[in-house]
Amino acid sequence: MKVSELLNPTLREVPAEAEVVSHQLMLRAGFIRKVAGGIYTYLPLGWRVIRKIEQIIREEMDARGGQELMMPIIQPAEIWRETGRWDVYGPEMFRLKDRHNREFCLGPTHEELITDLVRAEVRSYKQLPLLLYQIQNKYRDERRPRFGLMRGREFIMKDLYSFDRDPESCQISYRKMYEAYERVFSRCGLNFRAVEADAGAIGGSGGTHEFMVLADSGEAEVVFCSECSYAANVEKAECLPRPVRAEGEIKCQPEGDNKVYTPECRTIEQVADFLKVKKSSLIKTLMYKGDDKYLLVLVRGDREVNEIKVNNALGPFINLRLATTEEVEELLNCQPGFVGPVGIPSDILIAADLEVPEMKAAVCGANEKDYHLVNVRCGQDFMPRVVHDLRLVTPNDPCPQCGAKLQEARGIEVGQVFNLGTKYSEALKATYLDEKGKEQVCHMGCYGIGVSRTMAAAIEQNYDENGIIWPMAIAPYHCIIVPVSLKDEQVVSTAEQLYRELKDIGVETVYDDRDERPGVKFKDADLVGYPLRVTIGAKALAQGKVELFHRKTGTVELVEVDKISSLVKSIVDSSLNQ
Ligand code: ATP
Ligand code: MG
Repeated sequence: MKVSELLNPTLREVPAEAEVVSHQLMLRAGFIRKVAGGIYTYLPLGWRVIRKIEQIIREEMDARGGQELMMPIIQPAEIWRETGRWDVYGPEMFRLKDRHNREFCLGPTHEELITDLVRAEVRSYKQLPLLLYQIQNKYRDERRPRFGLMRGREFIMKDLYSFDRDPESCQISYRKMYEAYERVFSRCGLNFRAVEADAGAIGGSGGTHEFMVLADSGEAEVVFCSECSYAANVEKAECLPRPVRAEGEIKCQPEGDNKVYTPECRTIEQVADFLKVKKSSLIKTLMYKGDDKYLLVLVRGDREVNEIKVNNALGPFINLRLATTEEVEELLNCQPGFVGPVGIPSDILIAADLEVPEMKAAVCGANEKDYHLVNVRCGQDFMPRVVHDLRLVTPNDPCPQCGAKLQEARGIEVGQVFNLGTKYSEALKATYLDEKGKEQVCHMGCYGIGVSRTMAAAIEQNYDENGIIWPMAIAPYHCIIVPVSLKDEQVVSTAEQLYRELKDIGVETVYDDRDERPGVKFKDADLVGYPLRVTIGAKALAQGKVELFHRKTGTVELVEVDKISSLVKSIVDSSLNQ
């Protein structure tokens, strides 16, 4: 490809709307253009990167028996009603009606549709296992579309669904996909980690892992163990109760009264300061509303509630949220800062974190303005209905597997694998007949990769102040040829000859034939991030040499003209075979 013919509009300035590096560089390097919030056009170079990531995914899926198919983006509401997800999905789902007023959505995912297909087409155990996948646009009306391709409203996903006879064979499919994902992200040149995760709205019983590209701009927080293989999303990470040294009972006036005056003390800090106790001696009480139920969630004062754990332990709720000040006031006749578990109406469910029953003499709200209770004990002064791990992990927590120190990192979720069990196959009656002719329910897995998000994540891990540094396997082209001057005939003819040679031996090459200053061409080449640049200048050429520049290391070597093509080819081949 000649640069003069390529639609590659580069920008010198950093676009104001782009917060993260990948978004800035994709706009500057002419890879994408915005159409609406979270909706983009891929320009030719951007699309080449996408196609390469897709190709790597295809190869790894096919190598494990995956069969590619294509389902429609538009899906009828009825099938979503069968699993109940038409209502559960909420405002993230793009919904539309046809001219007959029939309801449809733009597919945010395809569990329903694929299960519908399989229930119609699969009869016998002989047809299983089945691994079916597609690579396609998905639609989610995200609350906060942002960071360019990282969180789009239209984005590209590979989604594979596995159908197996039983849990054991389903686990084999899961393992296969887990390994395929490791291969995909390694081949894309990414530094990633698989972490235990929460199943969220997709649900299912059999466990799930997220594949995280480690980067400071990542929206997800993960913890991992420095000693063993444990790694988890903080949403999921298990917390063991950790003892604190008990403080003595608080003396009250008059003696025996456990209600103390705490004027205007609404926060944990204010109460701890006022009573001169540690935050870990306080019970933090938060009121939540889930569907139409109210719950009090209790954690130690120095802890944070993990709402996902609350939802898993007590729900699932379609809409779990903190109760509003008005709701708290109406129910308990006091403000949220003074709420506590003692003496509340019995229809409000109390759920306590594992650490709360360990507290010897705790402080909590008295359900009365400006008052707290002291020397409170769980099990004596109040009785939680549920005691469960409900708190958010901290970096000081020990590894739940080996007890060593946990470390924190941020990650970009590029893929997730789920063992769904029979959640969808039961709801949609995807069954098969076993050897004895008995009807059995299929065991399912689903496995997604964010193709467009992977492109963004690759940039977040591979850039410098001059631009993108593409890993060879997903670079839009491997090599760019830059003649320093178009006036020197020998320079131009050598450049053109190398361009032909490289193309002929299968190196993806662009030729910067523009009549621009060399500085401009170098800047563009660095910004776009071609892994290799061959520069042809009169001086070196007089000695029969050209310059080879490695984008990643910044090193330059002088190479003889008749050796450059085979050298470039061998560099490309060896990095693709890694
Ligand atoms: P997130 O938690 O980031 O919203 P998710 O867990 O809802 O993602 P999945 O349903 O697991 O996403 O989808 C599979 C993959 O699709 C994700 O691992 C991610 O890489 C990608 N993905 C999901 N939502 C988006 C989005 N809005 N924009 C780009 N990629 C996305
Ligand atoms: Mg996910």
